[in-house]
Amino acid sequence: MSEREPRRGRTPPAFADPVYVTRPLLPAAEAYKLAIEGIWERHRLTNKGPLHDALEARLQAYLRVPQVSLVSSGTMALMLSFRALALSGQVITTPFTSPATINAIVACGLTPVFADIDSRDLTLDPAAVERAISSHTSAIVGVHIFGMPCRTDSLRTIADQHGLRLIYDGAHSFGSEVDGKPITRFGDLTTLSFHATKLFNTAEGGAIVTDDADLKRKLDLWKTLGMQDEVSVVLPGINGRMNELEAALGLANLDLVDAERDARSAIGLIYSTRLAGIEGLTCFETPSNVRRSHTYFVVRVDNRQQTASRRDYLYERLKAFNVFVRRYFYPLCSNFPIYRDLPSAAPQNLPAANRAAKEVLCLPFFGALGPARAHQICAIVRHILA
Ligand SMILES: *Cc1c(COP(=O)(O)O)cnc(C)c1O
Repeated sequence: MSEREPRRGRTPPAFADPVYVTRPLLPAAEAYKLAIEGIWERHRLTNKGPLHDALEARLQAYLRVPQVSLVSSGTMALMLSFRALALSGQVITTPFTSPATINAIVACGLTPVFADIDSRDLTLDPAAVERAISSHTSAIVGVHIFGMPCRTDSLRTIADQHGLRLIYDGAHSFGSEVDGKPITRFGDLTTLSFHATKLFNTAEGGAIVTDDADLKRKLDLWKTLGMQDEVSVVLPGINGRMNELEAALGLANLDLVDAERDARSAIGLIYSTRLAGIEGLTCFETPSNVRRSHTYFVVRVDNRQQTASRRDYLYERLKAFNVFVRRYFYPLCSNFPIYRDLPSAAPQNLPAANRAAKEVLCLPFFGALGPARAHQICAIVRHILA
């Protein structure tokens, strides 16, 4: 097969059924039935049940980390972390993320301060973080966006020099490693999301991963209304518990996640090979020391000085082929009306993030897509951009 196909070939066929950006991983119905059976014997639905505890233990082993605290969502994981670490004032973070990251900061009474990203990997630019530090800063929240690891060494140095907490939103990096070290072991803690659209899901859910046993005990209190026992509430906690039905789904899905990663890895290889050489379209390379989690497959569509966005053109035209991709994370969080008046939200403060939000596109990426459909998507993209 030649790398470059003829520019004016036949129009590739559209898909008979819609293809979406992801399809949640689900166990066979029988496997889930087996996993939940005990619930009917025990009549225990939540409050640190045996399935909750079993999933915490299995995730600790799978992720090779000492402490995992399961919670009800990735957003809750962020909020509980901010409360447990007693953050105050300003928190420096990236605008190129899910609104969940920013909204969780605001929900805890904190002020987000946006710092620009590095356009090579779309994660926080350490120099921009340093410039954003003020006497009110209490923490840095980095996001391993699309599973691309933050510059953990530089951020650690900056956090230590200024006495700041360092938190990672790892919603996109389940099972990822840097130099053989689990990505969840950098910073003071890492939050995970187990939302249906993420690589590993419990329908709704999330977790906080930390090496610090005292912090894990504190987080466990924070997620159960701060109730130490029947009669003592020792801190103003929130209900952030994961229930037994969700934990059962997690236990069943954890058996499937390695095969899912392998299937996605094969699809990613098809995309990066067959999309190579399309003018103005680039894939992100995985550094050789990084084991990616394969949560998303992102491409960047350069505007080539055109006034209309080629990324948006591709996004719209794909719909005619029954392919529904997503422009994560557009609009940029700092451009939402609720945040754009913050001084740090000015577009001239965030040029790389504003550009990324206009150029990045997430392609359909899930194991059940299969190689044949991945090839067809490549042919369609090539046809549209030719
Ligand atoms: C999905 C996501 C979250 C929030 O997770 P929920 O489980 O949906 O609350 C947080 N941060 C990022 C970067 C995400 O993509």
